[in-house]
Amino acid sequence: MQEIAKDILKKYYGYSSFRKGQEQIITSILEGNDTFVIMPTGGGKSLCYQIPAMILEGITIVVSPLISLMKDQVDTLNNLGIPAACINSSISTKEVDNTIEKARDGEYKLLYVAPERLEVNSFIDLLNSLEISQIAIDEAHCVSQWGHDFRTSYRVIAPVINTLRKRPIISAFTATATENVKEDIIKLLTLKSPNTYVTGFDRKNLCFRVIKNENKKDFILKYVEDNNNTSGIIYAATRKEVDNLYELLKQKGYEIGKYHAGMNDSERNENQEKFLYDDYKIIVATNAFGMGIDKSNVRYVIHYNMTKNMEAYYQEAGRAGRDEEPSECILLFSPRDVMIQKYLIEQTILNPERKYLEYKKLQEMVDYCHTSQCLRKYILEYFGENNIPDKCDNCSNCKDDSELKDITIEAQKIFSCIYRMNQRYGTSMIADVLRGSKNKKVLNMKFDKLSTYGIIKDYTIKEIKDLINVLIADQYLMITEGEYPVVKLRQKSIEVIKNKRKVMQKISRRKEKVEIDNSLFDELRILRREIAERQKVPPYIIFADSSLKEMSTLLPTNKEEMLHVKGVGETKFERYGEEFLKSITNYMEQNNIIKKDKGQHNYIEEKQSSNKKEKIPSHIISLNMYKEGMGLAKIAESRELKIATVKDHIIKCALEGYEVNFDGLIPEKYENLILEKINEIGCEKLTPIKKELPDEVEYNDIKAVICKYKCLKSKNIS
Ligand code: ADP
Repeated sequence: MQEIAKDILKKYYGYSSFRKGQEQIITSILEGNDTFVIMPTGGGKSLCYQIPAMILEGITIVVSPLISLMKDQVDTLNNLGIPAACINSSISTKEVDNTIEKARDGEYKLLYVAPERLEVNSFIDLLNSLEISQIAIDEAHCVSQWGHDFRTSYRVIAPVINTLRKRPIISAFTATATENVKEDIIKLLTLKSPNTYVTGFDRKNLCFRVIKNENKKDFILKYVEDNNNTSGIIYAATRKEVDNLYELLKQKGYEIGKYHAGMNDSERNENQEKFLYDDYKIIVATNAFGMGIDKSNVRYVIHYNMTKNMEAYYQEAGRAGRDEEPSECILLFSPRDVMIQKYLIEQTILNPERKYLEYKKLQEMVDYCHTSQCLRKYILEYFGENNIPDKCDNCSNCKDDSELKDITIEAQKIFSCIYRMNQRYGTSMIADVLRGSKNKKVLNMKFDKLSTYGIIKDYTIKEIKDLINVLIADQYLMITEGEYPVVKLRQKSIEVIKNKRKVMQKISRRKEKVEIDNSLFDELRILRREIAERQKVPPYIIFADSSLKEMSTLLPTNKEEMLHVKGVGETKFERYGEEFLKSITNYMEQNNIIKKDKGQHNYIEEKQSSNKKEKIPSHIISLNMYKEGMGLAKIAESRELKIATVKDHIIKCALEGYEVNFDGLIPEKYENLILEKINEIGCEKLTPIKKELPDEVEYNDIKAVICKYKCLKSKNIS
């Protein structure tokens, strides 16, 4: 039996070994036991009921809560050569009838259904006319009110099973289950002395990071720019915040989608589909997005706000890296997040006992953000695992290489200014006074007469505000709740003023790139996309990123070698193998690559090309495209460059004397202001000009204005 299971794993899925727990779970089901599995998101649950479904006589019914997930899973299975279908409300009656007929004829090994379907009598008749080997219940925690996604229709599953003429094997799967949810599932689904498997919660390929004391928007902009070729999810706490982030990134030219409960169904579906199909690399969403999202190549999940508890965090963050490739889960913390979550708890109609529980869970989440121990250890211990090593070397605490900067002087200036302003103002006003702003409010209040007026000149307003936030997070200052939060001093800050305590700030040396691309990998992705469009399925259903990456390093040139690539099984090879082989051999020819050595340890050697083609400089290529009327974002996308780089290219061309139309390069709104500042300050150095302008004006914009008005004295703009 186990041998057959292994053969199926290789032949259909193209994998050569089982992951932790999978083999035991499959054996348990094949031996006829009810089986209950708790495995983290991305752990590989589906395979645990699909392989028994293939081996057992008859059909497996899979109960699954989300229609989008169902279609995806069925597409994936069909692509692997496994006969499967689904029945749900998005399918026409005619199609449903057709599927039912085929199911009766024994044409499917798996039939996916939404739980609501079990409330339809005619469907129960159908079930009774089939030979059902197994009923697999996905997202089983939906049956429990204590779980976080309770669905009433899950409560009909057990009664339906009990009316069946013959009781099939029942298997139930979930990613999150605390002790009481676990008991609930077993009881409410009437599992009969189930074999229970809790595989470890660890996801080794995920790197966990908590970022505090940084400007969140700046972080996101930089991160997204550095990773603009990879897929990511950005979660935010509220619809408004999602809309704001969406606009911010959209303005920068990113192809991006959004998803929240304030949008209508069709908008949501369109955004989700485009993300699944890689038309959108990024999606910004509230927690309404994601259940059942099986996209395997999500390289990062950023939480713009802290979640309400660890369960929600781990589930959402776990959507990164399902293909086991290195991926990042980043949480951006700010003290305001705690206030939002507290407010949300206060708004609920939970009884006091549940509220208390929610507050406790929230505190555990806050502790995650502040702990200096290994983040992975914290998570795994939270989920009840023991004997976890102290260091994982793959989280921001284990890899902390930040430098400490002494900011005592700056802190003293800030504290004494707050004190002189009678601790009655918010961050912006304090920053204005410290910077010496001539803003009306400052002058009206006569703050320009304070000794602390204008004592921090070498920081921008934004930098001063960020500094105040750091001091709040590190508990030197406190911020009051309410609509107009006021910053006040704490005991710790008094000690700093009295020179009894130093203030140190952690400055992280960031390395934001998630992966290094290689150009064959990019070509294979393009091919995958073409095939996906042809077949109308999301690209990752054709091959996972990890498979393409392996192809681009192993360079298979025949069927046998191709079948060694992880994720390439017989059926997939028959469907797509030749096309990918062709693309790989073409690439090798074009780039004069010969493979040396056979077997597992291939390596690549690039032959020195004797007749090197003359290359057109990169910046000129960008200019040519720009002249043909392509927008900056489009050029960036097609050349796989950053937008800022394309802008730089075009400015460089202008400096070299090429004719350039500046209209698309300079933000209209700021053109005059930038020019004004250049005339005031001169254009020898850009930083002093930048400091005088609103934050959203970029260095590039200033350079473009300088070029346009030819007010530059030297061509070496620094
Ligand atoms: P989940 O537990 O979240 O339902 P899935 O079943 O969707 O996870 O599996 C996540 C990914 O891991 C899928 O892309 C799947 O093909 C892959 N996978 C599952 N089992 C294995 C295995 N034994 N070897 C390699 N990849 C696997």
